[in-house]
Amino acid sequence: MKKEFRDLLKEKGRDKLPAVLLAAAECAPLSKTGGLADVVGTLPKSLAALGIDARVITPYHRVIKEKYADQVEHMFYFYVQLGWRREYAGIEKLVLDGVTIYLVDNEHYFGDRIYWGGEAEGEQYAFFTRAVLDALPNLDFQPEVVHCNDWHTAMIPMLGRTQYPGGMQENLRYLLTIHNIAFQGIYSFDYVKDLLGVEDKYLTSEFMELNGCANYMKGGLVFSHKINTVSPSYAREIMMPYYAEGLEGILNARHDDVSGIINGIDKVTFNPRTDPLLPAHFDRGHRKGKAACKAALQERMGLEQRPNVPLFAMVTRMTEQKGFDLVACVLDDMMSREDMQFMLLGTGDSRFENFMRQAEERYRGRLCAYIGYSEELSHLVYAGSDFFLMPSRFEPCGLSQMIAMRYGSLPIVRETGGLRDTVQPYNQYTGEGDGFSFANFDAWEMRDTIHKAIEAYYKKDVMEGLITSAMKADFGFELSAMEYARLYLCML
Ligand code: ADP
Repeated sequence: MKKEFRDLLKEKGRDKLPAVLLAAAECAPLSKTGGLADVVGTLPKSLAALGIDARVITPYHRVIKEKYADQVEHMFYFYVQLGWRREYAGIEKLVLDGVTIYLVDNEHYFGDRIYWGGEAEGEQYAFFTRAVLDALPNLDFQPEVVHCNDWHTAMIPMLGRTQYPGGMQENLRYLLTIHNIAFQGIYSFDYVKDLLGVEDKYLTSEFMELNGCANYMKGGLVFSHKINTVSPSYAREIMMPYYAEGLEGILNARHDDVSGIINGIDKVTFNPRTDPLLPAHFDRGHRKGKAACKAALQERMGLEQRPNVPLFAMVTRMTEQKGFDLVACVLDDMMSREDMQFMLLGTGDSRFENFMRQAEERYRGRLCAYIGYSEELSHLVYAGSDFFLMPSRFEPCGLSQMIAMRYGSLPIVRETGGLRDTVQPYNQYTGEGDGFSFANFDAWEMRDTIHKAIEAYYKKDVMEGLITSAMKADFGFELSAMEYARLYLCML
């Protein structure tokens, strides 16, 4: 055990690190729609390396059942009372890469999509919340800290502390991590009273009321012992109305309990030296393989076979958050005035999907829009591109820019949240940096930065320095795990 932790334990009069249960709607590689899943899947492994027994509880989604049913062990079942409904909840156990994952089984709530969307999603995750709390005393594991993630699990601390008097749930320590504050779980008072038995006294602005509605995220922010978000810059930004989506009041009130811990990436999965999804391999010192990946990407996606043209890429949800409106605004100007190629892999708002499909028609051979989700193709895009564009309006942490850097694709980002914390912009006077950035959410500022990147592309020594720095950056989970371990300890 690290000396720092030994000292902290001594200070607390304890002899061992706390056991932690992570509760989340998704967990990679079992189920994944975004970065949250990567964090929940990777963090327990890095915590184990520090000597912390961290386990996960997550829904037994259909996609998991289809793939892992024969590895899962049934533990027990019970019935969850959800308003007038009485619902079956099975607890299954899966051990994957040494991490124990408890899966909450219910064919109705988890037999379809991970997120139902709309009002029904509130019921889907009210069920999960109640099932987690009711299952806790019967697990073969006694956590001291329950680490909740985003609004889907944010009601666990509130209900645990208010509805289980004398139970172990009342005395647990709760951490809530905000991965994206834009999603909050907003429902009517009657809805949460019916589903979760929330008492009227908690439906006030002091507790879970916001703008006349019950707000799951706010309930979590009020009742968690500590709150963190996934980068130091985002932790500062969400104190401001522009980023906080209405929650700045409660966040400022809890200011001293809010911190930012940058996520890491799984360095084993994302390793250009060994990645089985790549046609050729490379590392910082030997980048021939990267050129081969670029050629393979161009060939596969119908782009002209040109080794010496700057190839820009995006792997993204196509939403306003990700700055897609900026891309739409300047794409034609860029494609008609610059000698460049553009590769998009993404899904999202239909207006952006259609825009990119049409752009592909206009710039065939130079622009490819692959509308869809493909883990496999994403690796080739990271490895085969020269630049990775991420002009987010806000970005709590962002994993894609870190993956891109590890694969030697230089990020071009807006200076917000985790993008600001992970990308050091190119300084033309000192030659320092590992990417490019712009300050304002402005299409022409982004366009200008892209132009600067293209100019740099033709300066061999500049590119050499930038790519080397980008590939050197250490975004492993070890550092984040250390910070989480400190946070868990200081919560006890
Ligand atoms: P967010 O979680 O906000 O979507 P992040 O950058 O934190 O953004 O994480 C996105 C993750 O999802 C990355 O691992 C990225 O490669 C992956 N991803 C996003 N869109 C796609 C897609 N269309 N196909 C494959 N992977 C994708």
